[in-house]
Amino acid sequence: MLVGDFTAAPAKPSTPMPAPHGVTFERGKVDFERIRREHPIEEVASRVLDGYKQKGPTTSVAACPVHGDGASHPNLHIHHGPHPRSGTWICSSCKAHGDVLDLVKAAMGFAETRQALDFLDGGQRLPPERQQELQRRAEENARRAANVPRLNLDLTDFAKEAYARLRKTPQHPASQAPQARHYLAERGLEAAIARYGLGYVGRGFPAELLPQGWDYEKEELYPAFGFFDRVIIPYRQPDGTVPVVNARTLVGKKPKYLKPSAGGAAPGSNARPYRLETVTRQDGVICITEGEFDCMSLGVAAHDLVLEMAIPGVNCFNEKNAEQLAGRDVLLITDNDAAGRRAQGPIRALLEAYAARVTVCPMPEPHKDLNDLLIEQGPAAVKRWIEPVVRRAGRRKLF
Ligand SMILES: [Zn+2]
Repeated sequence: MLVGDFTAAPAKPSTPMPAPHGVTFERGKVDFERIRREHPIEEVASRVLDGYKQKGPTTSVAACPVHGDGASHPNLHIHHGPHPRSGTWICSSCKAHGDVLDLVKAAMGFAETRQALDFLDGGQRLPPERQQELQRRAEENARRAANVPRLNLDLTDFAKEAYARLRKTPQHPASQAPQARHYLAERGLEAAIARYGLGYVGRGFPAELLPQGWDYEKEELYPAFGFFDRVIIPYRQPDGTVPVVNARTLVGKKPKYLKPSAGGAAPGSNARPYRLETVTRQDGVICITEGEFDCMSLGVAAHDLVLEMAIPGVNCFNEKNAEQLAGRDVLLITDNDAAGRRAQGPIRALLEAYAARVTVCPMPEPHKDLNDLLIEQGPAAVKRWIEPVVRRAGRRKLF
């Protein structure tokens, strides 16, 4: 029902949002831009939505009031700060979306935009029992947020068990996970299983080793069964520990890539670069790809030429990470798509502040990314392409 009200499309940068549908009162007297400016969407969302939590510097999630999310699996994404669609929200499940006024309407069950305006500018037109209810809800949300424990601090045993189920052994020469092996073989990445310790979670996987989730309603831990039927990519540290994994679905489940929740930890603490700590221990040109699978494609084909790492998203790279690349020669390989071009700016700026030299190299058309090149033309072609690129990116004569 409410979905029909969300006619405002997510705003592009510097494109003003259209006035919400159905506003007929005092037209021209309401400054919608000012309302949106003075009431940051993340601040409003944290007050009116259940299960609100910040996932990164520009995105938060919460339970969607439109289709009635469980607060433990929130689908509503709120964009704020420097995000390209800052000031908007969208539910990845029911696709309801809009701006801060639509958010208030959905959360409070308001039929009219006017009620949302009253709510935001502190108008006294709300009945007192409604105001009390709001106050109660805000207090309850704050209490629940304070109770969330830090989760999934060490995933080493999980990653080891997942790897044991994917690799070939003398006891299991055919592997226990034919589906996962088939998927990786199709992407040209069978050799990546041993090199990167890839794993698989399927039937019979012990629940006690799974990452944990936090149930906001019951306020208790539960095994995160969402990791089933996924290829596990461990973020292995040089000492062998695994603080973070990323998990790619094999059966079309959403999200395509799943990371364990970090609970009450600092926002974005599980968003980090892939293999940064490994490459900074070795000499040579550091090659940065976007996705982990592109990074592996490079390593499988040309690990004797490159030190491969990945930054899977702008929010996975901060100034502290960039500091670790101080004085290094860095090659940034960007995907041939809109997301790749968007991500390039902020990552490049951080790199240029610290690295000795930054070379940006887009993938050659028609290849979308490195894995695409590997699949289409094989490892020898990847190596032929990267060799001169790496040579140019290195300040010292490497070859
Ligand atoms: Zn929804």
